Amino acid sequence: MATPLSATQMKTVLKREGCEVIEYRSWETHERDAATGLHFGPVNGVMIHHTVTSGTDGSVSLCYNGRSDLPGPLCHAVAAKDGRIFLVSNGRSNHAGSGDDDVLRAVIAESYGSTPPAPNEQNTDGNDRFYGIECVNLGNGRDPWPEVQVDAMARWAAAICRAHGWSEKSVIGHKEWTNQKIDPRPSPGGADVSMPAFRARVKKLLAAKPGDDVPIVTNPQEDDVPQTVGRTDDGQKTRAPGDWKALSIDGVDIVKGAQAYSVTVHLALKAPAGSTLQGRFYHHRPDGSRWKGSIIERLTTAGSSFVDFHHDGDIKSAESLRFELAYFPAKSGDTAEAVITRSRVRGLYWKA
Ligand SMILES: [Zn+2]
Repeated sequence: MATPLSATQMKTVLKREGCEVIEYRSWETHERDAATGLHFGPVNGVMIHHTVTSGTDGSVSLCYNGRSDLPGPLCHAVAAKDGRIFLVSNGRSNHAGSGDDDVLRAVIAESYGSTPPAPNEQNTDGNDRFYGIECVNLGNGRDPWPEVQVDAMARWAAAICRAHGWSEKSVIGHKEWTNQKIDPRPSPGGADVSMPAFRARVKKLLAAKPGDDVPIVTNPQEDDVPQTVGRTDDGQKTRAPGDWKALSIDGVDIVKGAQAYSVTVHLALKAPAGSTLQGRFYHHRPDGSRWKGSIIERLTTAGSSFVDFHHDGDIKSAESLRFELAYFPAKSGDTAEAVITRSRVRGLYWKA
C-alpha cells in the first residue's frame, strides 16, 4: 500500500536529503494518467536511467515533452551533470516500460543479494510501479559520470526510499528491469554507476541522518495522503540475552490512530559478531492484549552492526504499533548485553 508521494512531499523529502531541486514548468500535474487511463501507483521502487543525450536544457525539455514515438513525460526527474535535479512529472511517466515480474517481486521483498534476478521476460508494466530518474549521459561507455551528478542521483533515490521506508534494494537500473536495455551504463574516469555500487551509496545515505528530522508536512484535507513517521533516538539502550522487550524510539508507540502503515526500524548496535537479533512489530490494544507480527531475524557483524526491520500492516485506530526486540548471543552462555547506540523509525501511515 505505497501511495505515490504528493508533489509537496516529493519536494520536501528531496530538499531534506540535500538535493538541489529545480521545478520544471507544470511538473506537478504533468503526467500520462489521463491519456492512458492508467494511474501511477501503488509504487514499489525507483529506477535509474541514462538519457543518451548531452546538455542540460535539451535533455530536460526532451524528458518533459517526449519524442514523436514516445509521449512525455519520460521520467519523474532528470539529473544534470552539475548535480541539479529537475522535476518533470509527479504522475505516470513513460520510463520503465515492460519488464520482468520476477524482478518486481524481488524488489517488493527487498530479498535479493547484490543484484536482482536477471530479467528475461517483458510481462509487467513498470510505469505505474516505479519512480524514474533520467541521468544526462551519452551511454556510450566513455562519457564520464561526475561525482556531483551521481551523488545527486543517489540522494534522489534515498529520499524516496526513506519516505516509503524502503531499503536500497528498492533501487534498480533499467537494465535490471528488462534485458532490452543497457542503462545506466558505467564508464571509466568518473563515479561508479554499476548498480551494486549505486545501491551501496543509497544504503550509506539511508544509514545517515537527513538534513533534519521534522516529519513531512502533508495536507490534512487529503485523507488518502499518508503521514510520515520519522523519529531518531540516540539514547543508549541495552538488551540482556533472551529478553524480549518493547523498544522505545523516543516513546514506544510508533503509530496511533492509523488504519494502515509501512514502517522500518533501523538500529545501530554493538554485540559480538554472529549474534542473532529478533525483532517483531505488534499492535498493542487498549485492554492490554495484542496482535503479534512474525519474527524478523538479523545477524550482527564485527564492530557496529546496522540492521533494519520492516513491516506493512493494517491496524485499528485504538491500537498502537510497537516494536520489540530480543538478543541472542553468538556464544551460548554469554551474559554480556547488546548495546543499541541509535534507534530510528521511518515510514508512512494512513490516518484512520
Ligand atoms: Zn531507461
